[in-house]
Amino acid sequence: MQQVFGVLLGLLLLPLVILLRGLTFIIRMLEGKLFSDGSIDKKVTYEFVKADMQYFSQEIDSHRCLKCGVEAQGLSWYHFRSSDASWRHLAGREGFYSKCPKCNATVNSIVTVMN
Ligand SMILES: [Zn+2]
Repeated sequence: MQQVFGVLLGLLLLPLVILLRGLTFIIRMLEGKLFSDGSIDKKVTYEFVKADMQYFSQEIDSHRCLKCGVEAQGLSWYHFRSSDASWRHLAGREGFYSKCPKCNATVNSIVTVMN
């Protein structure tokens, strides 16, 4: 009888676990963690990067596309974070990178957090 009860409990808990995993994924998407492995690759504004970098904001203005010369304000900026697994293995990286919208080339990247 206990085995039957255990199987029934398992069958009831399985959909609940699946539902919770789905909710966790949706919450991560809303937080900007767009990928299920916990990594982030989210477009942000130049002003957001300037505000986040604070004391190093002048360094951001020195970034410009080497091919066409577009300056920092005209570049597309992205916030990146490596996967949860990389952080568990002490190889996590987080920061910003910029791409030239004309050349579609990565101009530069800045690591702000690492472990
Ligand atoms: Zn360019």
